[in-house]
Amino acid sequence: MTQVRTRVPPSPTGSPHVGSAYIALFNLAFARKHGGRFILRIEDTDRERSRERYETAIIEAFNWLGLQWDEGPDVGGPHSPYRQSERLSIYQEHVDRLLLNGHAYRCFCSAARLQAVRAEQSKLKQKLGYDRHCLNLSSSEVGRRVSTGEPHVVRLKMPDSGAATVKDTLRGEIEFDYTNLDDQVLLKSDGFPTYHLAVVVDDHLMEISHVIRGEEWINSSPKHLLLYEYFGWEPPIHTHLPLLLNPDGSKMSKRKNPTSVEFYQRAGYLGSALRNYLALMNYAPQGAEEKFSIEQFFDSFDLQCVSLGGAIFDRKKLDWLNGRYIREDMSTDDLMHAMKNWQLNDRFIRATLPLMQERMDTLGDYMDKCAFFYMRDLSYDAVDLVPKKRNAEEVVLVLQTVTWALDVLEAWKRSHIEKALTEVAEFWEWPIRDLTAPLYVATMGQRVGPPLYESMELLTVDLVRVRLLDAINHLGGLSKNKSTQLEKRWQERQVEQGE
Ligand code: GLU
Repeated sequence: MTQVRTRVPPSPTGSPHVGSAYIALFNLAFARKHGGRFILRIEDTDRERSRERYETAIIEAFNWLGLQWDEGPDVGGPHSPYRQSERLSIYQEHVDRLLLNGHAYRCFCSAARLQAVRAEQSKLKQKLGYDRHCLNLSSSEVGRRVSTGEPHVVRLKMPDSGAATVKDTLRGEIEFDYTNLDDQVLLKSDGFPTYHLAVVVDDHLMEISHVIRGEEWINSSPKHLLLYEYFGWEPPIHTHLPLLLNPDGSKMSKRKNPTSVEFYQRAGYLGSALRNYLALMNYAPQGAEEKFSIEQFFDSFDLQCVSLGGAIFDRKKLDWLNGRYIREDMSTDDLMHAMKNWQLNDRFIRATLPLMQERMDTLGDYMDKCAFFYMRDLSYDAVDLVPKKRNAEEVVLVLQTVTWALDVLEAWKRSHIEKALTEVAEFWEWPIRDLTAPLYVATMGQRVGPPLYESMELLTVDLVRVRLLDAINHLGGLSKNKSTQLEKRWQERQVEQGE
């Protein structure tokens, strides 16, 4: 057998997700079990949404979890560069090959035209998709339009008939009719590849033997297989892992559950315990013991033992496992070291002190008012969230709006937080103190404390989001319907403000 090479290719478009960490862990386990190599590749082809800080955060989160890769943008390797934005000429070369062989074609349709086509298709209840308007343009016309610099994309030409068979190691063979598949864009007008082109080219050039990824990518596989065929390459073996779920069975999302690895780190979990917990997701360990080391996991790893269906990410169980790590595995020195690495260190205490000094009579007052910086869950009376002359339903709507406003901040900085909260207050026509009052209680569990915006900055976006969701739930929650309506109004307002 050729060398096993697996990869995890996160897109740096948001905080590192526990779902990506789970996929990374299983890829790593498979590589280690078979004496292979594990590769980290950064898929930063979405120029609008990719951020360097998310790449850094992903690398830090994976390191914290003890997931070690053998090749990657930070450690290098024989297939450098491992960041897709640095491989544009490679994709261009491959697109040229497809164009030359007639497996791809240039499309000059404007966004407005594509939108009109879709609108018409949905009016007529037809299948949505590209209508191949540019498929048969003459080569002289294409040449002329390209030479005048007319913006265009390159699309994959799907076969007119036939089917692709995706062989998944856990699910067996899955057939996809080509006629149901759109002529996928491979190269965008900015010269950047789409995921579909880049993933195939890179997996091949980086000699990936096994693609083990989340099941949300199954529908992309037939397009990928077709690309392998067009290039004349042997495709890797595909496995699609079931997703992580919220306790209500829906796909795990930050709107219902903390999803960011950074949250768990900040909330005082241990990287080793979270990693162990992720190893239990959709996977039954041999024997009854659910607590095991990463080496034990690698040694006994068998991809065939992954169960389909999806695993519920249960924070209570994670708490239980984390507690066992603390109680069973750590000496006092280990624990002391872990506490310092976490938040009980000079750097963090120093950052909080200027917020507190004015409010302290004794040194111990710090503990009284700043414990919320270190706590996992807060306890307070729900009525404290509701300012005078306001009612619980209104506060729920307002806090929900706050979560959306904070979620899109370009930087998690005091000034940005203040601006976002001011916008929310204006939207609801509330004086700002009616908004800050419930926010004090929601984020700190107390009516008074250190300054709000600075404290929120130090709490981090993930902890703040979870605390806001907890507060909304304390007040009875918000129905899906109401939330959707409100979000629409809020977004319309954002668009108006942006104009
Ligand atoms: N960049 C994709 C992601 O963010 C990778 C999907 C794959 O593993 O092929 O999940």
